[in-house]
Amino acid sequence: MSAMPLAPAETLEAYGASAAGCTRCRLAQGRTQVVFGAGNPRADLMFVGEAPGFHEDKQGVPFVGQAGKLLDGLLAGVQLRREDVYIANVLKCRPPGNRDPQPDEIEACEPHLFRQIELIEPKVIATLGNFATKLLSGRPLGITRVHGQEQELTIAGRSLLLYPIYHPAAALYTPAMLKVLESDFARLPGLLGATLDPAPLEAMPEPQPAVTAPAEQLGLF
Ligand code: SF4
Repeated sequence: MSAMPLAPAETLEAYGASAAGCTRCRLAQGRTQVVFGAGNPRADLMFVGEAPGFHEDKQGVPFVGQAGKLLDGLLAGVQLRREDVYIANVLKCRPPGNRDPQPDEIEACEPHLFRQIELIEPKVIATLGNFATKLLSGRPLGITRVHGQEQELTIAGRSLLLYPIYHPAAALYTPAMLKVLESDFARLPGLLGATLDPAPLEAMPEPQPAVTAPAEQLGLF
């Protein structure tokens, strides 16, 4: 049987396996493991957070602590599950004491993130918090100014929508932030729908049937 080209899932998996041994920055010394990312390797929607924390470092999965529970709840609020999306961080290794990522660490790690984006080919990237937003937007504007405002960008050679959102951890410290997060998450299905090829929709007869299974209809599987 002739060799088949690698499917995107296999390629992402292979890239993740190679990144597991990364020593490009000092964070390699204190980590338990590289937290590469998790979710659907063909997802239309990708989330990018900041860096692994204590629990993520131990389990090897992003967003498994308190902020992860909040993220799950926010996803459920828009009829999405973790398996529908892909979740990664700017840094793949835990900074000691959960301190902020340093500029040289972000620079060292960003090839991993850009390669993930190339392989997953998301239509929408929701950046969670300041670090991911500033890195992927290429602008110094903070999350307070830009959250909830999508912008069209070319990232890793691909045209997509960047959609900044507060980091879910913000709601752990400031409960009122949960309303803002819910409001910003509520726009995600619409943004995903806006990025789909309009041709099939135009061909459908009027009136349109109600959307009863948003995740499937958005092509998230
Ligand atoms: S943080 Fe990124 S660049 Fe640094 S060692 Fe981990 S995977 Fe490599």
